Parts: sequence; C-alpha cells; structure tokens
Amino acid sequence: MTGKDKDIESFISQLIENPPKVSRINTYFAKEITLQQFNDFQIIHTQKGSRLNLQLTPDFAICKDCADEIRDLQNRRYSYPFTTCVNCGPRWAITNTFPFERDHTSIVEFPMCKDCEKEYTDPRNRRFHSQTNSCSLCGIQVQLTNNLGFNQLSEEADIFEKIAELLNDGNIIALKNTSGYLLCCDATNKEAVQKLRNKKKRPNKPFAILYPDLALLQRELSLTESQIEALSSTERPIVIIPKTNYHGNLALAELAPDLNQLGIMMPYTGILQLLVAAISMPIVATSGNLHGSPILSDNEESLKTLSNVADYFLNHNLHISNPQDDSVIKYSTKFDHKVIFRRSRGYAPNYFGTKYTGNRKVMAMGGHLKSTIGFLPNDYVYISQYLGNLDNYDVYRRFENTALRFIDIFEQQPDKILIDTHPAYHSSQLGVELGKKFNAGVIKIQHHKAHFASVLAEHELFDHDYPILGVIWDGTGYGDDDHIWGGEFFKYHSKRMDRVTHFEYFDWLAGDKMAQEPRLAFFSLADGLMPKEIGEKFKSRELAIYESIKKKNQLKTSSVGRLFDAVASLLNICDRNTYEGEAAILLENCIGEYELEKCTAYVSISNTGLIPTKLLFWNLYSDYKKGVSKEIIITNFLFTLARLIFQVADIQNTKIIALSGGVFQNTVLIDMLKELAESKYKLYFNCNLSPNDENISFGQINYYLYCKDHSKSDEVFK
Ligand SMILES: [Zn+2]
Ligand SMILES: [Zn+2]
Repeated sequence: MTGKDKDIESFISQLIENPPKVSRINTYFAKEITLQQFNDFQIIHTQKGSRLNLQLTPDFAICKDCADEIRDLQNRRYSYPFTTCVNCGPRWAITNTFPFERDHTSIVEFPMCKDCEKEYTDPRNRRFHSQTNSCSLCGIQVQLTNNLGFNQLSEEADIFEKIAELLNDGNIIALKNTSGYLLCCDATNKEAVQKLRNKKKRPNKPFAILYPDLALLQRELSLTESQIEALSSTERPIVIIPKTNYHGNLALAELAPDLNQLGIMMPYTGILQLLVAAISMPIVATSGNLHGSPILSDNEESLKTLSNVADYFLNHNLHISNPQDDSVIKYSTKFDHKVIFRRSRGYAPNYFGTKYTGNRKVMAMGGHLKSTIGFLPNDYVYISQYLGNLDNYDVYRRFENTALRFIDIFEQQPDKILIDTHPAYHSSQLGVELGKKFNAGVIKIQHHKAHFASVLAEHELFDHDYPILGVIWDGTGYGDDDHIWGGEFFKYHSKRMDRVTHFEYFDWLAGDKMAQEPRLAFFSLADGLMPKEIGEKFKSRELAIYESIKKKNQLKTSSVGRLFDAVASLLNICDRNTYEGEAAILLENCIGEYELEKCTAYVSISNTGLIPTKLLFWNLYSDYKKGVSKEIIITNFLFTLARLIFQVADIQNTKIIALSGGVFQNTVLIDMLKELAESKYKLYFNCNLSPNDENISFGQINYYLYCKDHSKSDEVFK
C-alpha cells in the first residue's frame, strides 16, 4: 500500500498491537524502498522454497462471532455446523499439505458459492482469506443414520432437535466432529452412561463431560479463574476439575468411578454448539474408539467398528486428514500450576520453541505408551498430537502414517532418526526401518535423558552457567545398565548429562504385567515381609510362582511409578489397573488439602547416596500397621518424595532443578515442591508439553542437538 507517513505508521502499529485473534507475529520489520504506487492491500500466497519455516497451525475453537451467527435465525449461516472464519475452525485436522491454504486441505472438495466467495475476497470481511469458508449452500452436509447406516430423518426435520430427543431417550450417539468421532450420551442418565461403559469395555476410566455453557457449569461446580480461562480458550481442552461441593444431576458414580474430579469441556465446534443448544444439559463426550484403539474419523470404518456401541450416527462428508483426541489439562490446587495430561487438538502439532540453526533434518520416534512423532525439517521442531499406545496395531499404523505425513508435508527427508534405547519399542523398530528407507543414521537416546532434555529445551537452559539437577521419575524406561529406570537424578552441565543417583533397585517381575498389576510392585517391595497383607492379594499357588520368579530374577528397577503402585496396593486402593496410571490417580485422589508443617518424611537419603526405596516402603508400612489413615500416609509419602529432591539438590550443590516424567502429573506433589522450594530453589517443569512420555520425541531431538555425551547413544545403524 502507498500512503502518508502518518497513515502507514498507524497501519503498522494497528497490525502489530491488534493482530488478528489467532495469529502469531514471530518477527516483523519495516524498511524504506524507492517509491512504488500500490492501489490495494493483498495477502500474497506463500512461495514454496526449499525450507518452509512456517508453523503448522492447530485447530481453533469456534469464535464468539461464529457461535452467534449459527444461533441467529436471520443469519444465512443459521444452524450451519461448519461455520468458521479466520479466527476459528479446524486447521491441522484437515491439513493435507503445507502451507495452510484451501487447496491444501480437505475443504477443497467444497467449492465456495457466490456469497462465500464474496466474503473470501473482501478485505473488510472477517472471512477474507478464510481458508475454511463455507455455508450450508456450498458446504459440508450432515446426516443422521441408525447403526445399520440408514438415514433417520425427513427433509424438513431439525437434525439437532432429533438428536436431543434420542439422547433424552437414553441412546448413544456416535458424533463425527471436525477432529474425529465422539461417543455421546446423557451424562445425567445412569443407565445410559453404564451402557456406554459396558459397550466400550471401559470399566473405570473417567468419561469427559461436555457442558452446554459456563453458566450452567458454574451453578453446579465452583471454578477458578484459570479453569474458566482454559475452558473458554481457543484450545478449549478437557479441564480436570475437583468435584468438591458439586450440586447438579450428573451420574457421578458412573462418569468417574471412585474419583473426586471430573473432566469437563465446552463445545468447541459448531456441531457441538448446535447439539448443546438443542439439549441444554451436560452430555458424555468421549473419544469414539474401542478400548486401546485410536480415535476414529472415517464414516465407513466408524459404522463398522462402533455399530455395536452407538445406536445412532451423526455423520458428515468432510474428510478428516489428521484425527485428534481432545487435549487434557489440570491445574494444581495451591499454586494453580498447569499440567498437560494429553497434548492433542488445539495444541498440536505446533511447538513454539527455540529457533534451531544448522540445517539438520532430524526425526524423533519418541516412546511407546504415549507416542508422539517429533520432526525438525527446518528451523523449528514440530511435535505431533498424542498418538497412543503402540501395542495396538491401529495406533501403530497411525503413528507410522504421521511420521510419513510429516516427511511429505515438509518435503524434507530426515538425515538422522532418533530412537529410544528400549529394544522392544515399536517406535524404535519403525525408526530403524525408516533409517534404511531414507538412508538416515539411526541414533539411540536413553529415555530419561530425553525427558530431562525436554525440560531443558522448553526453558532454553542448555547454555545455563550453573549445573542443573534433573529429577526424572516415571513408570519405566530402558536404562544404560540394562535395568528398568524410573527414579533418576541427573546433573546437567556444559553439554553433559550424568546420572548422579537413583532410587535403590528392587525386583522387576513378570515383564509388562508389573505395570498392569500394582500388587506385583507391592510383592516386590515387601521382599518377603508383610506376609499377611501379601497373602490377601495372591492365591497361594500364584504366590509360589512369583516367589520362584523372584528368586531367579536378574532384572532390577528404580521406578518411582512402581513405588506409587506398591503404596496403592498396600493401602487397598488398587491391585489391578484397568487403565494406564489408574493406581497413581486413585492414590492422589485420596488426599485433600495438606499442611506442610504436619507432614513427616519416611526416609532421608542414605549414606550410600542412594534413595532407600525399600526402607521408605517399610517405614510407610509401619504407619499402616499402626492404623494411621490413608490420607496421612499418602500425604507423608508425597512429602518424603518432595523433600528427597531438595536433599539431592543440596548434595549436588545446585539450586536449579528440572523435573519431568509421568510422576509429575501428580499436582499435589507439584504443590508441595513449590511450597518447599520457596525462593531458595528454582524449579522447572514441562510447560507446553506433557511431563509424560509424550515429551520423549522432543527431548530426543534436543538431546541429540545439545548434549555431547552419547555414551550409549552412538549411531547404531547406517
Ligand atoms: Zn469464527
Ligand atoms: Zn457458501
């Protein structure tokens, strides 16, 4: 554009200070050039160069303007479920290639009508260059069918009124959202919720609940400001909220068995907005899949897979290229510390981190249970959405497709592939295959070092002047000494990461079964003591078998995750997990508010410099024998863990502590750590990534780029 200095300056400052809602300005500059006459304002299409340094955009929740339009009888988009504008709508879900332009998405199948085209080309319209622009004339069509695939609606009937009726009658609806299928039923109807549990083969894992609006939610549940903000944000994740003082009609016992918290979300798409407007009560909205398999997104496949689960299907004809689960977050009670439990829709695949230099193309294969793909194709690292447990074949296929899609989208092949050192991870095996396919070197990186590197990178601490203590606690990871690590302390300084201490080893028994049955961790840590309590959890034949296994056992572990399991089993909270991490969640669930002054620690660090795992457990057991309450025992247990961290920091002579691993999803532990740290210690947690294994891929890339110590991480295949 051409104009007077004053006008141009005001245009630039307007643009910088009030950018479009969901935009991100990374850099900008102005320079003087020789005078040229411009007559209009244009957005110039991105030129495809050799390295596209653009961000991949996550999906955005429906904005207020669009939400108002679909409820306005006078508006031409009244009741159109796929109403979007530049400020909202799906992005990554429909991305086929890069950069984000209509031709590169699955919405290209719906050519714009005249009215939509007019909006798209009018700079004053909020749909100017809105790549997802459509309306009911030119856009996506919805259809309601029964579970045999037959249409259920006459022309004139209102589809959302009909669905509301079906939900009211206790039916289960499989609803195709813009990021994948959701299974819905009336959240106040016990029988309906239990029916969904039985059909989904999901006995205990809590269901997410979709509330029609904040007003109703706030009448039933008290919310903090952070929770309200998250529930209304453009990411709009599921927020885990304590259900203290809940008063409403939810079928609590069926929705979240034995839990004192609920996973809540707000309608983030037009289709969900129209649904809740018709029903105006909370509904279950859980991922549309069968136990352990990935979220479904294809019409035919869903009908085939879910016809025994759902009574009706709400389908549409927009192709979902990148299916995503809903993200899950939680805030700690005392310090309002945000923890990401699952990073997916709304957050992925972007990762806003450091700009990387050096022209390296690195792909990271991540972990196994909570798999993600990481890719450095240009100056940025992109981390995929949560993909899930790779033991499931369909999850594995989606994992593989995501890796190949990243390579496709950026038109860059990796020259290095990073894998976990665990020999049995399917992600590692795929990494080796891809290495051969793309003639890329494959490098192994130790699991817990990757976790540590993920926090260091999130806070840009690799060039820090002082040593940093890394506290990495999780369920399992393959250690450099071939044992199962999970209670590790590292020291990072000058590009080196060294293991300084860990939880004393105990027996790792029965392979994967140990993670599924907390009673096995109890058996292992009891180590021949506590016969009465052990006897109650095993049949005598079983016990004989495990005793003989234990005698011959060579495999050891330092896993804090298993220590949590053992405590949960001893306290009769959980002997068998029906979903991953159940014992740890139920354990945290037993305690309310704590007072630090009243806590006592079960152990201190031992003379050997190791954490005395068994002694800790035995001292805790003696409290149990004395009849001390569960709540006090668990509070003291967490206090012990928190205090140990500062003891190790003092021994290592550092005040800077970085913490990662699934154990740091425990928000009470985080509150205690923050309270104990006061201003004397500086704590760093994962912030834009989950502390669990979802951050392994990001950590692998950063470990590879910044750490010199590749002792066990040498290039293994080429
Ligand atoms: Zn909008
Ligand atoms: Zn149109």
